[in-house]
Amino acid sequence: MVSKIILHPGRDKSLKRHHPWVFSKAIASTSDLPQKGAEVIIYDSSNNPLAIAAYSPDSQIRARVWSFEADTVIDEEFFEKRISNAFEKRKLMLEKSGMSACRVVAAESDGLPGLIIDRYNNYLVLEILSAGAQYHKADIIAALRKIFPDDNIYERSDSRARLKEGLELTTGVLYGKEPEDEIIISENANMQILVDIKNGHKTGYYLDQRDNRYALEKYCFGKSVLNCFSYTGGFSLYALRGRAKSVINVDVSKKALDTAKRNIVLNHLDPGRVKFLCEDVFAYLRKAKEQGTKFDVIVLDPPKFAESQSQLPKACRGYKDINMLAATLLNPGGILMTYSCSGHMTADLFQKVVADALLDANRNGQIIEFLTQASDHPVALPYPEGLYLKGLVIKVD
Ligand code: SAH
Repeated sequence: MVSKIILHPGRDKSLKRHHPWVFSKAIASTSDLPQKGAEVIIYDSSNNPLAIAAYSPDSQIRARVWSFEADTVIDEEFFEKRISNAFEKRKLMLEKSGMSACRVVAAESDGLPGLIIDRYNNYLVLEILSAGAQYHKADIIAALRKIFPDDNIYERSDSRARLKEGLELTTGVLYGKEPEDEIIISENANMQILVDIKNGHKTGYYLDQRDNRYALEKYCFGKSVLNCFSYTGGFSLYALRGRAKSVINVDVSKKALDTAKRNIVLNHLDPGRVKFLCEDVFAYLRKAKEQGTKFDVIVLDPPKFAESQSQLPKACRGYKDINMLAATLLNPGGILMTYSCSGHMTADLFQKVVADALLDANRNGQIIEFLTQASDHPVALPYPEGLYLKGLVIKVD
């Protein structure tokens, strides 16, 4: 028997626009439901098939669409096609720039809901975030071994987002060698970066900020730079290559700061101009304000403050707070490069929060660049949720 979900009248609109999610509230009836993660056909209220999807009983997103052709077979060959297709689109970028790491699959935006695949040299790192991708894990691994026969495959499914899908957290080797504790990747005109696949954040590194790190370089000649939430010092490397006079990294992770130090040496940049402060950024910024410390360039790249819509108001207060403090610390003519990676925060809202922050700091500013996630983190047109990273470069009077 075919597993079936029938939608309420009028609740088929988003699916007909090829948005890949079916919320539990949209469902009128179900029959012969499959085991968690297996396929189910979605019908509109007049019994027309709309899509084939993965069934996710534990999540409010009750089904995630694999294909809008309801008779598609979801097997190894399906994954091979979708992953190859996604990789083809990245190849141009990789070949042109000599980069050795990229996001090969960006989940929903590449037609593979809940599946993230990052590639660091010859290590493929999988993050499985949906019951459907979990159910087809063996097919996905088999497909990857065909497309990337020389690569090792490692799993980093330890994001708490898995709990919403009723999946346990897990990491480990899926095929080939265990990654060394650190590997070196290259990005943007040969910058060398140490990546810890097994224990680093996300799949090891923040590939999404690649273009934005590069964008910082041009603002830093002779400047004093403050890099808040620095992680392994990504932005600082470009500040130094751009001949910054001094750079301060602030992060709560001592391990990340140690790696930042080694990244600077690895790139033959001058560690003598750099400080590493293992501190809470909120506390650091307040202290710097009290002490009257000033900077020419400040980067704010905080972690996701809003994990859900209900956390958005609190997140806005957090973003406003750090942006207000940073604006206060800037010398006249200074540059504020500020980000939000919370998907729930829209670009409009983020701009408004930053505008309010500058108003509170009694500073005027102009946006001179709008930044976003790198092109290997694309956004499928019917899936605006795919756009999560917003960045503003503001010239402060
Ligand atoms: N800009 C980095 C990525 C930053 S990720 C890059 O380009 O690679 C966010 C970082 O913020 C993490 O390293 C995390 O350790 C740090 N962090 C989170 N909360 C913090 C806080 N309150 N104070 C200081 N650092 C914090």
